[in-house]
Amino acid sequence: MNLFTKLQNIVTTSRITNDPAELYCYSSDASYIRGTPDYVVMPCNTAEVSEIVKLANKHRIPLVARGAGTGLAGGAVPLCGGIVLDMSRMNKIIDIDILDLQVEVEPGLIHADLNRALEPHGFFFPPDPGSSEMCTLGGLIANRGSGMRSVKYGTVTDYVLDLEIVMPDGAVIWTGGRVMKSASGYDLTALMVGSEGTLGVITRARLKIHPLPEVRAAVLAHFNDQEAAGRTVSAIMSSGIVPSACELMDSTTIKAINTYNAELGLPDCEALLLIEVDGAQCSIESDAASVANCCRELGAFDVKIAHSEVEMKELWAARRLAGAAVTRLNPGKTRVYIGEDVAVPLSAIPQMLKKIRAISRKHDLTIMTYGHAGDGNLHTGMAIDTLDKDQWDVLKRAADDIHKAALELGGTVSGEHGIGSARGEYMNQEHGGALDVMIAIKKALDPHNIMNPQKVGLE
Ligand SMILES: Cc1cc2nc3c(=O)[nH]c(=O)nc-3n(C[C@H](O)[C@H](O)[C@H](O)COP(=O)(O)OP(=O)(O)OC[C@H]3O[C@@H](n4cnc5c(N)ncnc54)[C@H](O)[C@@H]3O)c2cc1C
Repeated sequence: MNLFTKLQNIVTTSRITNDPAELYCYSSDASYIRGTPDYVVMPCNTAEVSEIVKLANKHRIPLVARGAGTGLAGGAVPLCGGIVLDMSRMNKIIDIDILDLQVEVEPGLIHADLNRALEPHGFFFPPDPGSSEMCTLGGLIANRGSGMRSVKYGTVTDYVLDLEIVMPDGAVIWTGGRVMKSASGYDLTALMVGSEGTLGVITRARLKIHPLPEVRAAVLAHFNDQEAAGRTVSAIMSSGIVPSACELMDSTTIKAINTYNAELGLPDCEALLLIEVDGAQCSIESDAASVANCCRELGAFDVKIAHSEVEMKELWAARRLAGAAVTRLNPGKTRVYIGEDVAVPLSAIPQMLKKIRAISRKHDLTIMTYGHAGDGNLHTGMAIDTLDKDQWDVLKRAADDIHKAALELGGTVSGEHGIGSARGEYMNQEHGGALDVMIAIKKALDPHNIMNPQKVGLE
């Protein structure tokens, strides 16, 4: 019996494909990495996932779980062929439990759909990736993702209470529980969060939720010196006020955003900090004023406070455009956006910004820098002519320098996008002996290496 027939015994034929045109659609994510699967299967429940995994394990077939394919590190790209499990049909909200501050969801649920469902209850799920309208919760959990508000609310790690996992042999386990804390046994939930589909398939998730804040305000501070903006981030974060977001955009990012949409009219300066505070009505004015004063004291030449939802929406719309806007830096050529995702300790942000500028000059490559500076996470965006091989080489050398600079400053090569197959080569340098422990865990749980092989620098 061939594999197609065996898969037909598990799911209906309409949910299996090996049509080359359809397989092509699953051969990439939002990165530049490519690899084509042999089959795509769309399971509808845990039992189906378990049977497919058992089949793959028995026949040593590589298996890659895929959410929405918005990953930026090639995590969902099937480098070794095999089966892609498209999890998008498992997209239900199973339970909203307000009294216990938690929800249970299937992994294919789109992130923004969960928040739309929670809003009428006065609650939200705080980790907020820029890809909220596209990405799945399973992908976010598997990548240990976060976003603009992690500076106050934490990353997805802080919100996962329990995961249903189909292990590489097809066994189904739950990793945690319904309680807010537990000191019982190894923390398997933490192990699975960020494992990028290399240890099992997430089929259910129980997540913490948070009451919506009463009000928000945003502070926009303009600087003529990038390092002063970098120093301000550290000063704000140690001032006692915890902003709900603290984003940095450098002059190249500002130019790109204004080129993309001139109506946004961001001010022409070396760096912008966009800081949001949220909380109770009684404290918001004074929190925003304290942040604004801190910016002025550290060198901001102009500081504005926005209170209205309309003003804030415009500011955030501009910030959310950053990734897309990089393609407008050098219009008229075939361009690709290659973004890096380093994070450094807060005190090292000014040095990291300086190093990125030096790398840009060294390689004569336009690099824009922006990101979640409040937790040290800086994205660099580079635009090259995709038809020019020399430019690819320059880009790779520049990206290598950026990763090494972050590691030299005690940072990490990925703050939120994951390792996938884009950053595996840095895992040894970043983790040393701890990488050997990760490899040992992978071998123990997945001895036949079927789960997302050749990822996370494990091979
Ligand atoms: C415009 C844009 C903005 C972005 N902004 C952010 C941001 O602010 N913060 C951030 O963290 N990321 C961001 N990202 C990156 C990406 O959107 C996130 O990493 C997202 O969480 C990936 O979700 P996905 O459903 O697309 O996962 P995919 O890309 O499909 O998969 C990602 C990884 O998760 C694994 N996986 C998926 N589902 C499962 C499952 N059910 N079980 C086990 N493993 C699974 C895959 O195998 C793969 O390794 C952005 C991407 C884009 C394109």
